[in-house]
Amino acid sequence: MQHYDIAIIGGGIAGISLAYFLAPHRSVVVLEREEALGYHSTGRSAAEFTLRDNAPAVNTLAAISHPFMADPPEGFSETPLLRRRGSVMIGAKGKEERIETLYQRSKAAGASVEKLTVEAALTHVPFLDPDSLGGAYFDPDYWDIDVDALMQGYVRGARRNGAEFLQGRTLESATLDDGRWTIDTGKDQISVDLIVNAAGGWADTVAALCGVRPLSIVPHRRTAITVDLPEGIDVGLLPEINEVDEEFYFKPDAGRLLVSPADATPCEPADVQPEEIDIAYAAHHLEQATTLSVRRVASSWAGMRSFSTDRLPVVGPATDNPAFFWLAGQGGYGILTSPALGSLAAALIAETSPLKGYEQHELDAEVFSPARFQ
Ligand SMILES: Cc1cc2nc3c(=O)[nH]c(=O)nc-3n(C[C@H](O)[C@H](O)[C@H](O)COP(=O)(O)OP(=O)(O)OC[C@H]3O[C@@H](n4cnc5c(N)ncnc54)[C@H](O)[C@@H]3O)c2cc1C
Repeated sequence: MQHYDIAIIGGGIAGISLAYFLAPHRSVVVLEREEALGYHSTGRSAAEFTLRDNAPAVNTLAAISHPFMADPPEGFSETPLLRRRGSVMIGAKGKEERIETLYQRSKAAGASVEKLTVEAALTHVPFLDPDSLGGAYFDPDYWDIDVDALMQGYVRGARRNGAEFLQGRTLESATLDDGRWTIDTGKDQISVDLIVNAAGGWADTVAALCGVRPLSIVPHRRTAITVDLPEGIDVGLLPEINEVDEEFYFKPDAGRLLVSPADATPCEPADVQPEEIDIAYAAHHLEQATTLSVRRVASSWAGMRSFSTDRLPVVGPATDNPAFFWLAGQGGYGILTSPALGSLAAALIAETSPLKGYEQHELDAEVFSPARFQ
């Protein structure tokens, strides 16, 4: 039976970023049930990097991750991982105060935000409906993430340091005997010292399969559609557009406009598919905020955003079994926080240092520990 120091369960961004940071220090195998890495949440995101809009601890993880993404280690990626896009926050008539509050808050936090008149908002997004727009401001600190390049960089770096990726391989059961796990994949058995649970929406399922107490990490379905824009609009130049109460957002995506109704419906872990009603909401929100009418939905999909009960990620050894390590609950920010969280998990496992931003931002990683749920 093949033995490794560590088996990471899940070949999404969580598992592969950890493999990247851990492989120089330990022998690592990543087990991914699907044939393709990143098939579930990771391959279905909106690929956005924001320094704001999340809980303070998550914003700090973003700040720690940003230097890695903006200037990755030599040889990590031939193409830039981030492309600045900027964002326009909008509020309908009646939400002027709400826009003003958020604008002032961002400004006080040091953001280079710029208040927009309706006319100025239209220069950024020419098809906004001036009759329904109540207020807007521009935030330059929004980037598109090249998720594919990020994944490839992690995987290449991990392989260079000896990590193995076994795709089409499921953890079906695992037993711990004399300090060693035997993992049964249905095809073969693997022996490891430590199991890392990076199974996204299936984090609780994998814990239960390993005899570890689940932590109530619940997947929430989120939907996205794409639509074509009328000729004459250069979609690539548009910013991302966020509704001030996160009722919807839209942004350019491969020559089309991606629209999400920002739904967050608790669901069972699965290969989730979009519901007709959420597709309709996406089109409805777009039509309400703009002068566009949606005649055809070019594509639609849904993915899982998985949250712990306090909506912060869970990183650390299980309190009921130190040979089982959680790296789960990345919600709607798992891609953008992957450098910070992957390096933190590796540091806790291999007693190395995480990305240097942790010290600089004085972030106490204990806030992510599974022990907080005891
Ligand atoms: C519509 C949408 C928009 C989003 N937008 C953004 C965004 O703009 N920016 C951002 O940072 N984040 C965004 N997110 C969130 C982001 O996609 C997730 O936080 C992230 O992908 C989670 O990664 P993961 O590796 O934990 O999960 P996943 O990518 O789902 O990976 C988990 C893997 O575990 C595997 N697995 C499960 N059980 C087993 C088992 N027993 N054995 C083997 N393998 C197993 C699964 O097959 C799966 O591939 C968005 C999500 C959605 C759905």
